[in-house]
Amino acid sequence: MPNVSRRTVLRTLGGAAALAAAPAPAEARAPRPPHDDDLGLLFDSTRCVGCRACTVRCREANSLPEDVKLVDGVPYDAPIDLNDRTLTVIKRTSDGADGAFVKAQCMHCADPACVSVCMLGALHKGERGVVAYDVSRCVGCRYCQVACPFNVPRFQWSSATPRIVKCELCRHRWREGKGAACAEACPREAVVFGPRAELRAEAHRRLEAEPGRYQGGVYGEREGGGTGVLVLSAVPFTAMGLPALGSEAVPALGETIQHGIYQGFVAPVVLFGALAWVTWRNRRAGGGGEGER
Ligand code: SF4
Ligand code: SF4
Ligand code: SF4
Repeated sequence: MPNVSRRTVLRTLGGAAALAAAPAPAEARAPRPPHDDDLGLLFDSTRCVGCRACTVRCREANSLPEDVKLVDGVPYDAPIDLNDRTLTVIKRTSDGADGAFVKAQCMHCADPACVSVCMLGALHKGERGVVAYDVSRCVGCRYCQVACPFNVPRFQWSSATPRIVKCELCRHRWREGKGAACAEACPREAVVFGPRAELRAEAHRRLEAEPGRYQGGVYGEREGGGTGVLVLSAVPFTAMGLPALGSEAVPALGETIQHGIYQGFVAPVVLFGALAWVTWRNRRAGGGGEGER
């Protein structure tokens, strides 16, 4: 090994190995709580009569094509679930004798799993807490579909230039001073649009005014770290198909582990760098450069 002493190499590798062996503490991930002025929706299932005006108005407001299926030979625009043309849908669930209408859509999580896994920031936390989508950054990996605990993002499989489709809280309407089209269309105030603090106050006002009408508090106040869409119900939330989430944000555990792993990667990178440096020194020395004595 010309010009580079064995002792120097061993010293270099020893230092790097010591770094590699050093334990990398996994830093706990900072919580990202919801803010009072985040915009969102309150969905009160007990007021919903299943008219689907919200679904129709949502489609119009977002310039999406109809999703027509033939039922007994008759065409109906009545999707049974979210799809690449449907950002919100009303489903009927049953819990024994009781039934309830459920409005499926993006929940605009305070700390969203879809954002956590989106490597290029195509899905991101935008203005006023809305989980927004930027198609120009999307590589179509569909990790967001896997990560979302509410099974919301849909992918345009049939398109030559596919994109992820989900509710963005009608943010394109804000410039015109308008809110969510679904809330505007609802004849029963089953859907209310506004800042989170006002939605929470309204939810609690309804709970206190008619405690026998509801059960289970307000879904989304704490579940999954808080969601922008809050839900009131007469049946258990799990019977409505809402997941039983704890108060911790869904990405919290995953990111804490991930950060621990990535911190662990620092040491191998240092080791690799040290080896590269030794190689470079050797080559340079072999080419007549100044070597170490
Ligand atoms: S509901 Fe799903 S898609 Fe919507 S913000 Fe939460 S994780 Fe993202
Ligand atoms: S907020 Fe807008 S995009 Fe979202 S479900 Fe309502 S109408 Fe559709
Ligand atoms: S418009 Fe209102 S009442 Fe009609 S289905 Fe939608 S949420 Fe229910």
